[in-house]
Amino acid sequence: MGVDDRPTRRAVLGAGLAGLAATAFGGVPIGSRRRLPRPAGGVALAGPAFTLGVASGDPRPDRVVLWTRLAPLPLEGGGMPDQAVDVKWDVAADDAFKKVVRKGTATAKPALAHSLHVDVDGLDPAAEYFYRFRLGDDVSPVGHTRTLPRPDAAPKELKLAFASCQDFGNGYFTAYRDLVAQDPSLVLFLGDYMYEHTFFSFDGRANPSNEAVTLDDYRGRYALYKTDPDLQAAHQAAPWVTTWDDHEVDNNYAGDVSQDGEPPEQFHARRAAAYRAWYEHQPVRLKPPRGADVRVYRDFAFGDLARFFVLDTRQYADVPPCRETSAPLADTGPTCPDRERPDRTILGTEQERWLVDGIDGAGERWSVLANTVQMAGQNVDLVGGPAQYYLDSWDGYPAARARLVDAIADAGVKSPIVLTGDYHASFVSDLRSDPFDLSRPVVGTEFVGPAISASPFSTDFTATNPQVRFFDARHGYVVCTVERDTWTTEFRYVTDSKSGQPTFEAGPKFAVERGTPKATPA
Ligand code: FE
Ligand code: CA
Repeated sequence: MGVDDRPTRRAVLGAGLAGLAATAFGGVPIGSRRRLPRPAGGVALAGPAFTLGVASGDPRPDRVVLWTRLAPLPLEGGGMPDQAVDVKWDVAADDAFKKVVRKGTATAKPALAHSLHVDVDGLDPAAEYFYRFRLGDDVSPVGHTRTLPRPDAAPKELKLAFASCQDFGNGYFTAYRDLVAQDPSLVLFLGDYMYEHTFFSFDGRANPSNEAVTLDDYRGRYALYKTDPDLQAAHQAAPWVTTWDDHEVDNNYAGDVSQDGEPPEQFHARRAAAYRAWYEHQPVRLKPPRGADVRVYRDFAFGDLARFFVLDTRQYADVPPCRETSAPLADTGPTCPDRERPDRTILGTEQERWLVDGIDGAGERWSVLANTVQMAGQNVDLVGGPAQYYLDSWDGYPAARARLVDAIADAGVKSPIVLTGDYHASFVSDLRSDPFDLSRPVVGTEFVGPAISASPFSTDFTATNPQVRFFDARHGYVVCTVERDTWTTEFRYVTDSKSGQPTFEAGPKFAVERGTPKATPA
């Protein structure tokens, strides 16, 4: 959304990926810069292969996806020869790899930027594992992951973390140090994994002079982000389940409509490049994308304790309304007749049907939406004038929100929980089918998490938004402890994300008792 708009100059000054890499790697400690590998499988590399770390994701009771990307530094052109490379992988019950339980070889291909997605099956449910990749003498950092409990298991507790909005140019990702110390079993990433626009880094680490548009641009941007040691550590610590918001492609895009009015066919191709690069850098269980249509919405259950519905609010969304009445870059504005149209959709017809069909009060004890843009609504008028909304959020799609919230209530879901990113601030809000009609029942609770490092949006609108129960604009992330009858959310803050040695502060805790949708201070 617009709150993270920075100067989006399109000037192509030519530095490109090479310039990016050269500045980026000046002062950043990088995981596996240990020694040069021996030529492996006949491939001589320019340097250590596993500079972007490792990751695991999309766990299931019997399997998990392991990720890495071979990227010897410097990264110009990906740093790899134009040939396929076989990489060994090991999964063990111990971090010394004395008890290897699964191993194999996977082929890293140039067409996928030498990224690997190994879907390791045959694992035990609710179990801890360690994993690594090997290429000749070069060994990756060791990752730690966990499988999910069986669907019929009745776990007492799940500790998860969620995060969003990490802006390399605006701060270090040090919030993740605290996340690692919290040892969550699962991390949800709710969008803005990287920012596509040009930036001038606060510490000079990188100054990409062009907005990402091509596949190479997006690959380079992800690779830059992936060199961050705190981000690498967070991926090594736990499995992630990730979705995207707008900046993985273009600020405030919807469907095939860009922020800047590129022709839709042209933007469609850009979206395809961005989606492919996203896939190449995320530990997701997907086939390699072959175009701009990529299904990332999905669900999974943590035993009978919780079911998570991971949403995509960009790919199928109608264009935010009222664009013709506001400046092209502005995403707030007064309402317009188009906003109210009953057929407007943010999820698209198929995803909306999938969600409504899948959410069920008779199913798991907690139903959770892993959502990307604010759902519980906010009037952002500060002068006592007509209501103003962030039209790029669910506030731009009020009919779709009402349909969904009503459907969740009709399905008998007790105390649905919505977890959200995008806003660069923390919120606890009551969720109603119409946020601004306080006569409607509170159906659920939305927790919006702070940004890892993107510019905070600090204007506090709580005085005129009674549905918003808590607001804070600091950087950080969120820890949730899910028990059978109580959901507890704890905001975790980092004092100065521009310092390499910040301190961490526990923010407030809020609890939701199952059956009572309103959050209360805990
Ligand atoms: Fe953001
Ligand atoms: Ca966003």
